[in-house]
Amino acid sequence: MSRKITAASAVSVVVLTALSVPAFAGQDWKSGIPWQKPPVVSPAANPSDPPSGAVILFNGKDLAAWDKDTWLIENGELVCNPQKGTLATKQKFGSVQLHIEFAIPQDVSGKGQQRGNSGVFWGNYEVQVLDSHDGETYYDGQCGAIYKQCPPLVNVCRKPGEWQSYDIIFNRPELKMENGIVRVLRPAYITVLQNGVLIINHHQILGTTFFNRPPAYEAHADKMPISLQDHGNKTRFRNIWVREIPDTDAHPEPVKPAYYE
Ligand code: MG
Repeated sequence: MSRKITAASAVSVVVLTALSVPAFAGQDWKSGIPWQKPPVVSPAANPSDPPSGAVILFNGKDLAAWDKDTWLIENGELVCNPQKGTLATKQKFGSVQLHIEFAIPQDVSGKGQQRGNSGVFWGNYEVQVLDSHDGETYYDGQCGAIYKQCPPLVNVCRKPGEWQSYDIIFNRPELKMENGIVRVLRPAYITVLQNGVLIINHHQILGTTFFNRPPAYEAHADKMPISLQDHGNKTRFRNIWVREIPDTDAHPEPVKPAYYE
């Protein structure tokens, strides 16, 4: 069906065209936001190694960064010591970039959630660690899932016994208690690369990753420990480091409207 060009629509086309052309074509547009000069970070020769300024959580030597020393160190690897409890960092962090390497036990023999289960937490929010190369379980509980909230986009798991990596961006939530109720001013978001492949893309977190009830936010501090779950399996870890990062909305407001000069 053809459509007649009316006088009114012709005028609107002219106006829209005029709006889409810069008033001062060829001159720079500036946001007016007073950005700070980005600080310099020296990258490591190997991108999986810590850059300058990173906080080293485990470098194969000791458990000085953690709240207990009940897990084992074998050949420079941190091994979960079943029933000895979850490890948490002494230091607490806001939003972070976290690198961690893990290996499911080579002789893993259980089923489902018993195949090398551990987990990497910022505060109350778990990125699942599990054997999903050979094992099957519910999708939002497999390796790389935000536990019971979101499966990974793809399954990029290596075999049990082989080293794998997570690069995780935890963006902390902003919570406020009001009359005994938790108000979510800004939800948490998590992004995960496993073995260099994006598996969780800036996923909005619905709250604590409970195993026995729906997710819900619980009040907690702005800075929280990072923890490694003891789920009764001898999962191994190495090369753990973290960088605290600004919150995503932590940029300054424009001091004056956008302008041309
Ligand atoms: Mg787990």
